[in-house]
Amino acid sequence: MLLEVRAVAPFYKNGFVVGCERTRQAILIDPGDEVDELMAAVRDLEVDVQAILLTHAHVDHVTGVGAAKHAYGAPVYLHKEDLFLYEGTVQQGAMFGFKVRQPPPVDVFYDGSPINFGDYEVRVHHTPGHCPGGVCLQIGKSGARGEDLFVGDTLFAGSIGRTDLPGGDYETLMRSITGVLFSLGDEAAVHPGHGPDTTIATEKNNNPFVLEYLATKSTKY
Ligand SMILES: [Zn+2]
Ligand SMILES: [Zn+2]
Repeated sequence: MLLEVRAVAPFYKNGFVVGCERTRQAILIDPGDEVDELMAAVRDLEVDVQAILLTHAHVDHVTGVGAAKHAYGAPVYLHKEDLFLYEGTVQQGAMFGFKVRQPPPVDVFYDGSPINFGDYEVRVHHTPGHCPGGVCLQIGKSGARGEDLFVGDTLFAGSIGRTDLPGGDYETLMRSITGVLFSLGDEAAVHPGHGPDTTIATEKNNNPFVLEYLATKSTKY
């Protein structure tokens, strides 16, 4: 699997190019302010972008969608429960003090069916909590268990997504992390929306927010 990550100021949000080394088909995940760097990576890798996949619709994850769509004409995918955030991109930007343009319309809402590029397959898992339409994109060779998880802002190395933004909910987030993400395999690599990569096993065993949540659960029940 070809994988490139880029991040720039002010949000240092990770944008990804994921490609098939055999067919040179690729996808973009969460193109934001670093979209020029992602497009340079696409040129260097000599891949064809087939789809633009969004883990969720917070402003830092969508500001590059317009440029990417313009460059590649590829369909934009989002979970429908984040449409209100996507449609409010300009207002979200204003909330953080940034002037941003409304991105182009969503082309496809995730419906549970896998998305293919080259020899690879993306399985989409709904992981609400940070926002209502957050998803985890699990990527691997078609038919195999995907070992790379693009989790957006649900889970970070040593931390968890904030739940104080519109549509956020702590209990829902923790259920997404412990119930959905943790079932995808201890060895799976986690590629968060901000900061460094980690693994499911590392977060299961060391993430202080996860450990605190699990401790509360076990005393209550
Ligand atoms: Zn977010
Ligand atoms: Zn973010």
